[in-house]
Amino acid sequence: MTICYSTTHFVTSVTHSNQFPEDIGREVAFAGRSNSGKSSVVNAICGQKKLARISKIPGRTQAINFFQVTDERRLVDLPGYGYAKVPDSIRRQWRKLLEHYLSHRQSLRGIMLVMDIRHPLNEFDQQMLEWCSYYEFSATILLNKADKLNRGQVRHTIDAVQQKLADKSIGVYAFSATQKSGLIDAYRVLNRWLWEEEAIS
Ligand code: GDP
Repeated sequence: MTICYSTTHFVTSVTHSNQFPEDIGREVAFAGRSNSGKSSVVNAICGQKKLARISKIPGRTQAINFFQVTDERRLVDLPGYGYAKVPDSIRRQWRKLLEHYLSHRQSLRGIMLVMDIRHPLNEFDQQMLEWCSYYEFSATILLNKADKLNRGQVRHTIDAVQQKLADKSIGVYAFSATQKSGLIDAYRVLNRWLWEEEAIS
C-alpha cells in the first residue's frame, strides 16, 4: 500500500479540551522533549519543510496541533515537553491538556516518541512511556539525530534503550530528520497504526 504523507496539512491548534477536532477515524501523536527534533521528524515524514513549524508559533508551542493526512487520518503534534523557560502554571496547564487528550481520545492509535539519540530516555520520556503504558497505547521510539553518531554507537544506543524498557514490544529505531534516514521504519509503523485492520477480539 502506498500512502502519501506529502499532502498532509495543518488543521487546528488546540489549547483547551473543548476544542478538539471530531474524534473519528484514526490518529498518531508525536511526543518529545523540545529540541529532540520532533518538528523536523514530522516534516521529514511528510516531505515538507514548514509543516510542523506551525508548532513553533508563539501560542501554539503549548498547543496540541492537528494535521490531516487524509479525510479521517491525522498526525498530532503534542507540546514539546521540558521547555525550560515555561512557568509552572503553564506547565500544569499543558499537563492537564495532555492528560485530557490521552485519556479521552478514541481515535488515538499510537504514540511516536522522538528522542535525541545522544540523550535518550530522560525523565520526560519516561513519564510519557508511563502514560502510554497506563492508557495502553502502542508506542514507538524514534532516536533522532542518528547522523550525530557512528554506526556502532547507534547500534549500541538502540540496544541500551531496548534493554531499559519495561515494555519489550516497543519498537526502537534510529532516525535522522536531516539525512532522511529511518523513514521506512517510521512509515511501516505509521501505516500500521493508521490503516491496518484491527484484530477483532
Ligand atoms: P523540536 O523542538 O523538538 O521540534 O526540534 P526541531 O525540529 O526544531 O529541531 C531542533 C534542532 O535540532 C534544530 O536545530 C534542528 O535543525 C536540529 N535537528 C533536528 N533533527 C535533526 C537531525 O536528524 N540531525 C541533526 N544533526 N540535527 C537535527
